[in-house]
Amino acid sequence: AEAVSPAEWYEKDEELVWHAMRPGSKKRSFIASKAEGAWLEDIDGNRYLDAMAGLWCVNAGYGRKEIAESVYEQLLEMPFYPLTQSHKPAIQLAEKLNEWLGGDYVIFFSNSGSEANETAFKIARQYFHQKGEAARQTFISRYRSYHGNTMATLAATGQAQRKYKYGPGLPGFVHVSPPDHYRSGMETEAQSNEKAVQDMENVMNWELGETIAGVIMEPIITGGGVLVPGDTYMKRVQDACRKNGALLISDEVICGFGRTGKPFGFQHFDVQPDIVTMAKGITSGYLPLSATAVKREIYESFQGTEAHDHFRHVNTFGGSPASCAAALANLEIMEKEKLSERSEELGRELQESLQELLSLPHVGDVRGRGLLAGIEFVETKENKQPWEEAKVAQIVARCKDKGIIIGKTADTVNGFNNIITLSPPLSLTREDFDFLV
Ligand code: PLP
Repeated sequence: AEAVSPAEWYEKDEELVWHAMRPGSKKRSFIASKAEGAWLEDIDGNRYLDAMAGLWCVNAGYGRKEIAESVYEQLLEMPFYPLTQSHKPAIQLAEKLNEWLGGDYVIFFSNSGSEANETAFKIARQYFHQKGEAARQTFISRYRSYHGNTMATLAATGQAQRKYKYGPGLPGFVHVSPPDHYRSGMETEAQSNEKAVQDMENVMNWELGETIAGVIMEPIITGGGVLVPGDTYMKRVQDACRKNGALLISDEVICGFGRTGKPFGFQHFDVQPDIVTMAKGITSGYLPLSATAVKREIYESFQGTEAHDHFRHVNTFGGSPASCAAALANLEIMEKEKLSERSEELGRELQESLQELLSLPHVGDVRGRGLLAGIEFVETKENKQPWEEAKVAQIVARCKDKGIIIGKTADTVNGFNNIITLSPPLSLTREDFDFLV
């Protein structure tokens, strides 16, 4: 076959591929072609340190032969069988996830983070039906959160610009503010966190009462601007859920699998969620897979003898044998190389180093946990107005010129496109780390 030149690839790409989240139809793509460790190479042969781990997911880094081999072997042994019945890789993975979760969970597998959350909502709603509390159908989520692209997960999402052209949205979701100490105007973090909990409790008491089904939250809001709550916030939310008969759903799609320095984000906060959703880092992005981990007592309510007691929900590819094999190999690497611990240690260094940026005139706030960081740019430190997007975009472009791919928030409605994000592979080398810092 004739070799295709880089110019032709760019041309065909522009003509044929509809890109996600891309403003401006004529903006040229970055066409990635090879990857190893924490590094990507584009079709022109330029190399970049991928400080976003793809899309917050390549936690174990690129080029892991063990994952590829284990997928290859599984594809030959048995490429597909649905989880209406079962197969060994799914059983082994469910067992392994329970070790990571430190709880007693039954696992429902899907393909993406969106589906994992969608599944969580359906399980929660049916659970309450089966408990004789059918009125409990509404969820609380938070502004600035992202929970997925399907209609229910978009309804849960708290970012207007992702939703406003897709109709009125589904009912059954109400939103409250997350704690954002930097912008709270309050003196102490404890105060701003307490205010956020009280607001949530007010919605539970004054608006929802016995119609509340659950609260969905990322332990640390990631894509919405890396908002790290105080140490007691999530526990207080769990207490409020327990008091009001609601389930706590922890969306660990990004926070899970070592990103924040623990196996799961909730493990920083002394809570044990009723449902935990996960995707991305579960396979380090090598194959699509997600999971909804559900506490056993919820699962038990689906084991009755009535015709409608079972969970009437299936997706063809959810938990496919090859994806489960990828996840098992990935988690084995993460355990062997202690990548959660590495994220915690390097993360501490990263957060400390980034604090130095606070001496710059336009850096308003620096925050994060583990190998997850956000740097918020403002017009002035006094007015805290989000710095204009073009300037922040220039920072992203300059980093790319220097060989580092970083991320940026994209809120065009409230102007919160002023936060750059870092989420590198947890396996990055010391040299990579120093280069990034
Ligand atoms: N939840 C969170 C916190 C996410 O960041 C994402 C995706 O970025 C999702 C859910 C949806 O995951 P997916 O894109 O795999 O559907």
